[in-house]
Amino acid sequence: MCGIVGYVGSRAAMPILMAGLGQLEYRGYDSAGVALQRKGAIDVIKACGRLSALQAALPKRSSATTGIGHTRWATHGEPNERNAHPHTDAAGKLALVHNGIVENAAELRRHLEGKGVTFRSETDSEVLAALISGEFERDGDLLAATQRALVRVVGTYGIALMHEDLPGEIVAARNGSPVIVGVGDHEMFLASDAAALAPYTRQVVYLEDGEVVRLKARSYEVQDFHAIVAERAPATIDIEATLASSGEHAHFTLKEMHEQPQTLARLMSGRLDERFSTAHFGGLNLSAKELMGFKRIKLLGCGSALISADIGARTIERLARIPADAESAAEFRYRNPIIDPDTLYFAVSQSGETYDTLAAVQEVQRKGGTVLGVVNVVGSSIARQCGAGIYLHAGPEVAVVSTKTFASTLAAFTLFALYLGRMRDLSPAEGARVIAALQALPEHVQRLVDRADEFEAVAKRYAGYDRAYFVGRGEGFGLAREGALKLKEISYIHAEAYPASELKHGPLALIDPQTPTFAIVPKDDLVAKNASTIAEIRTRKGPVVAICHEGALDETVEDRIEVPALHPAVDPILLLIPLQFIAYHAALARGCDVDKPRNLAKSVTVE
Ligand code: GLU
Repeated sequence: MCGIVGYVGSRAAMPILMAGLGQLEYRGYDSAGVALQRKGAIDVIKACGRLSALQAALPKRSSATTGIGHTRWATHGEPNERNAHPHTDAAGKLALVHNGIVENAAELRRHLEGKGVTFRSETDSEVLAALISGEFERDGDLLAATQRALVRVVGTYGIALMHEDLPGEIVAARNGSPVIVGVGDHEMFLASDAAALAPYTRQVVYLEDGEVVRLKARSYEVQDFHAIVAERAPATIDIEATLASSGEHAHFTLKEMHEQPQTLARLMSGRLDERFSTAHFGGLNLSAKELMGFKRIKLLGCGSALISADIGARTIERLARIPADAESAAEFRYRNPIIDPDTLYFAVSQSGETYDTLAAVQEVQRKGGTVLGVVNVVGSSIARQCGAGIYLHAGPEVAVVSTKTFASTLAAFTLFALYLGRMRDLSPAEGARVIAALQALPEHVQRLVDRADEFEAVAKRYAGYDRAYFVGRGEGFGLAREGALKLKEISYIHAEAYPASELKHGPLALIDPQTPTFAIVPKDDLVAKNASTIAEIRTRKGPVVAICHEGALDETVEDRIEVPALHPAVDPILLLIPLQFIAYHAALARGCDVDKPRNLAKSVTVE
């Protein structure tokens, strides 16, 4: 969600800031801006809309060698130029960018207004600029002023700021929203996502919550809010700097769907043990004895991650026969959850920065629970907070909606279920069948990806409808939820997922010829029940698209997509692929911005 960048050195700051913001563009934003510091003055340039609008507003050249930049995802105040960041203090001498939410902004604003400060925007962020500016007047030390101000701030933030009186200096701070320093050769970079640093340096320093850093071209100085110095050596990151292009594909969404055979293979690489029909993980940091001590498993996540966790929980129950369930991390963190030492928790987040999930992890840890991360972005906040878990290794996912990382999360849980199952009572023979299915998976996913035209044709037939149902049972219901979420996120068709078993208990009232239903029908014990549900829908003249296993369904339907069955522990991944293509092509047919759906952001770093 939104992005922060900064640069201090001897090169021209403007192009570096714009390139950095370009790398973060995928995260979703509604306006953008930069502050450039020439000797003796700060220029702030902002624009509503895409980065191209900001680019058009910028001067051709700027001699500034220090600057900060921001892409905003509005929380407080409409997305317009006035509310865009950077915000300045009343004198225009201090410029600040902020990611996150200041929860006591109204109170601070009243207090500052009482002292004669006038505000120009409706944002919570402008309050920070005014507050720090007030403190700066006392001693002219930007780091100390930031520390004194932030102890009065309640909320989450990553901030970066600079002051006209201190050329060549940037101060940044973090509480809940990522801030990463890139250490260069006589130059320093700043970003809210390591991807923006990758073109310049691999040496990074992650700021922790409650820390502030002062950057100059040749130095960085990390302290906590009470001026205790934190010695921090840079870590070396290994990330691909490939965010800029979707290559031969029209969209990142499409590119990432096409990558799935490779990303699934990469997830499994080195993790399958054919000899003992089990899986290996490098980073769980739990012995077999410790794992066997857990009596339940609880998976936490938000959005698509929550849905993948839900399907994952069923797979864990299926193979390991241990109670497992999934819950929204955002709900969990606020309901004073009972943390049971016998429960193993998982936190699922593609970006590893989902704020609600991070807070849930902290809640589990505070109460003495054990939590593992299932994360794609290496070194992200959740990965570091958990300290152990499973990396997806799916490469950067740029499109706002998750596709390849959803598939990889399902596969990660199948591997974990196999691993735990083989410690419990999954037989070697059944373990071998799961491994065989996992090994065959990338090739079968490839064959489905190759059938994109067939899925496109179905999508086009239904793109004109305004609403749709998605139904399924068991893991099929999880897939129905994902299919509906993808469709509504990118095509804006109102799509609702329902357990097929529940349809007759209410929503059947809405079925009519204008309401198509996408039914997920695996060839399992419930296939006859699903066939009955489909018959009930068609009796009410509702069109049905069945996404089913080959030969599973005799029932007549309007459209049928047949998918091969490998093993129930991996089949959800195959049934998922047509749903992704349907959402993608329906969105395209409706002229939607597939990669950057309205109102959404990639990594949700605010509450
Ligand atoms: N809360 C701030 C605003 O609405 C920052 C939002 C963001 O993270 O982009 O301006």
